Amino acid sequence: MNIHEYQAKELLAKYGAPIAAGYAAFSVEEAVEAAKKLPGPLYVVKSQIHAGGRGKGKFKELGPDAKGGVRLAFNLDEVKAHAADMLGNTLVTIQTGEAGKQVNRLYVTDGADIAKEFYLALLVDRATGRVAFVVSTEGGMDIEEVAHSTPEKIHTFAVDPATGFMPHHGRAVAAALELTGDQAKQAAKVASSLYEAFLATDASQIEINPLAVTQQGNLLVLDAKVGFDGNALFRHKDIVELRDLTEEDAAEVEASEYDLAYIKLDGNIGCMVNGAGLAMATMDIIKLNGEFPANFLDVGGGASKEKVTAAFKIILKDPAVKGILVNIFGGIMKCDIIADGIVAAAKDVNLSVPLVVRLEGTNVQQGKDILAASGLAIVPADDLGDAARKIVAEVRKAA
Ligand code: ADP
Ligand code: MG
Repeated sequence: MNIHEYQAKELLAKYGAPIAAGYAAFSVEEAVEAAKKLPGPLYVVKSQIHAGGRGKGKFKELGPDAKGGVRLAFNLDEVKAHAADMLGNTLVTIQTGEAGKQVNRLYVTDGADIAKEFYLALLVDRATGRVAFVVSTEGGMDIEEVAHSTPEKIHTFAVDPATGFMPHHGRAVAAALELTGDQAKQAAKVASSLYEAFLATDASQIEINPLAVTQQGNLLVLDAKVGFDGNALFRHKDIVELRDLTEEDAAEVEASEYDLAYIKLDGNIGCMVNGAGLAMATMDIIKLNGEFPANFLDVGGGASKEKVTAAFKIILKDPAVKGILVNIFGGIMKCDIIADGIVAAAKDVNLSVPLVVRLEGTNVQQGKDILAASGLAIVPADDLGDAARKIVAEVRKAA
């Protein structure tokens, strides 16, 4: 789960990270009111969407010459004009894809006098299984280019969970940023506060870009992107409240309400599978047979009739779906119960695309009999390879 920049900054400030003053705004009036509370004379009006690259982004409605999604304002009239430009319009950045994202929230913050922009991130390094710092002196809006053409300028080191964050980690961050004296101390403090925030919130990513040094010599978090481990959200009610559902795929949100693990993909074969491993294998074998899965969907071990029906409906909402492959192993759940669920769901949603079902496990024969007796045009399959070949053939026949 991701949150907005202003939410991330409020959160990180609690752990002692240096954040400039700023306020969220949902309307032009609120943006002006927010600016009035700031010292000025420089304000920054920032589009709040769950995607980076806003500074260099373009608004669809405003044409190529208009300014991007992060703008400086030198007085309240400019704050007002920028807010009016941004709110309700669609910002396209390198991270949003062509469709872009509608800006419904702004963050109005104190303008900083920037001397230098650094990059500082924390993430889980899967290779070492540790929380790692990623640090570079070359922060700012071109970090992707730095990673691509001068990767040696990006330093990475992991923290041993047995010791936690130690003073030498702070010194390593400062050294990687080529800071000395008081600024080195500030860098170590920022690193330590981010590490504490990372662990305490079960974050999966904290990215500060830029971490700025101001002309006055202070380190300041100017942009913050924070993501959380979805599996740990149950113990962070306060963080779940920050969720902005308008930023998420509608089908994925609906799926999460039914406790279904659903991720939309680009292909045309809808998949309904129980167990993440089986789901991955099913997607692989569809690809092997020359088509692409429209989604990843794990209905879980205890797939009830309600869940199966909800899953069908979610899959069918995707207009790209030209056929569905159900691949269920009846272990905890018995095949006859699943078959009942499939038949009821298929009738309920008025299924109009080909459906191939492969069942295996407990009571498999009863399950197959139920499908055969249903009167529905369900194509039964015997094993995974057979199922994939059949759904690919059906989809191609229909095309
Ligand atoms: P994004 O990464 O989505 O483009 P940022 O928040 O990093 O958005 O803003 C882009 C650039 O705008 C930053 O690299 C920085 O140069 C400038 N900027 C952002 N916030 C401020 C601020 N409070 N004061 C001055 N400049 C800022
Ligand atoms: Mg940034």
